[in-house]
Amino acid sequence: MVSSENSPIEIPASILIIGSGVFGLSTAYSLCKNPLFKNTSITLVDRQPFPVPDGSSIDTSRIIRPDYASPPYTRLASAAQALWRTSFAPQHYHENGLCITASGPEQKYVTSSLTNVQSLGTCKLEVLNSEDDIKRVTGLENASGSTGYVNWSSGWADAEGAMRWFRSGIEKLNRVRFITGTVTKLLIDHSTSLVSGAQLSDSRTITADLTILAAGAWTPSLLDLRGIAKATGQILVYLPITRSENHKLSRNPTLLNLSTGLFLIPPSQNLLKVARHGHGYTNPTTIPHPESSDPNETITVSLPTTHIDDPSQSVPLEGQKACRAFLSHIQPSFSSPNRPFTKTRICWYTDTRTGDFLISYHPKYRGLFVATGGSGHAFKFLPVIGDKIVDCVLGNMPEDFKGKWEWPENSVPEEEWEGDGSRGGPVGMVLREEMAKGESKL
Ligand SMILES: Cc1cc2nc3c(=O)[nH]c(=O)nc-3n(C[C@H](O)[C@H](O)[C@H](O)COP(=O)(O)OP(=O)(O)OC[C@H]3O[C@@H](n4cnc5c(N)ncnc54)[C@H](O)[C@@H]3O)c2cc1C
Repeated sequence: MVSSENSPIEIPASILIIGSGVFGLSTAYSLCKNPLFKNTSITLVDRQPFPVPDGSSIDTSRIIRPDYASPPYTRLASAAQALWRTSFAPQHYHENGLCITASGPEQKYVTSSLTNVQSLGTCKLEVLNSEDDIKRVTGLENASGSTGYVNWSSGWADAEGAMRWFRSGIEKLNRVRFITGTVTKLLIDHSTSLVSGAQLSDSRTITADLTILAAGAWTPSLLDLRGIAKATGQILVYLPITRSENHKLSRNPTLLNLSTGLFLIPPSQNLLKVARHGHGYTNPTTIPHPESSDPNETITVSLPTTHIDDPSQSVPLEGQKACRAFLSHIQPSFSSPNRPFTKTRICWYTDTRTGDFLISYHPKYRGLFVATGGSGHAFKFLPVIGDKIVDCVLGNMPEDFKGKWEWPENSVPEEEWEGDGSRGGPVGMVLREEMAKGESKL
């Protein structure tokens, strides 16, 4: 028994973590390190072998930035960045800088973010008052966005490389039992409101005193999160470039235009990635109610569909055109039709109404804790988020995140979600409808 702010917490003898992405893996690591859990057995289950090919945490790159409009995230990202620079997979971290621009209402986010990183007092910053300034710092032929700033102290990480590094470190600790299997439902005893583990699709069950649900964008398939969290599909396209183009661009900062959501990350291995940090596509899907014992009761929620479900899946034409237009504008030489994208991908955010993570015990079910709601910005926290999650498991919500990470008191219709003000581009797109508009060839 340890005591938290509110009540004593019984240390569980067994913990099951569902999901081996940023939230699940970092939780496993922090549990292994924490002496309070030295006698706890830890099991981590994922539906795919590692590295999960369609997991949100696995990709060529992720931006590592303290550039947030919200001071708590600026502070936490800055703490994470200190580790990226030194002891956390430093070979996978590159400090090229981040140029954030806008040309509309999103300038508000840019201005708040600038104020926050200025207050850190450690970032090398340059305010960009014109398109010429943007062009100069990005090293591109044309600007995207009209004003902004560059933070030369921001960077990016090879996401898959860092996740592999982290996972192999955890494996060496020999504390976590890794299982490949798809959870079909949580084991809920409705008479006692107790969750005692999970049922797998091959009819195995894994029982545990505490289940930590960290299934990313799939979490709403295992728990009713209507009005709280939903999956939104975001687009990525990859363009092969020559070695000399790679050499030139690899020293540029990342360019992120918050008004369109489009961004260009420095290339690696002769591959250039363009993506959109946008409102995304929803994918409404009707499934059996995950918390009901009546198999006929259904709910409709937005859930991921990926290239694992459909190997021919590619980004809808609308998205490919947006990426192509962005590239044609900033670097016309990349726009030639005989330079096709060789790969596209839809990657899934777990969006919440405010862009805050959801790190909390379930309000109704004992034995169930939820760690999700990455909202398109959790990767950078990989070195630190597990410790924060374990603090919350122990009942100690970090002061900075009180009012942000707890279970919301009520659900809010999705059309009323405010977000965090960082998203640009089209609103309200449904994946199925966009796919139906045309062949999405590469
Ligand atoms: C396109 C894109 C760009 C991004 N860019 C950035 C960025 O630049 N900087 C940044 O900081 N963040 C970025 N993010 C956000 C960041 O990558 C995510 O917030 C983070 O990776 C989410 O981690 P997760 O653990 O919630 O999800 P995931 O990594 O998806 O992990 C969830 C895991 O649960 C497993 N799972 C799901 N259902 C089941 C089941 N039923 N049974 C068993 N296992 C299951 C899945 O297989 C998966 O491995 C980006 C995200 C995307 C999609």
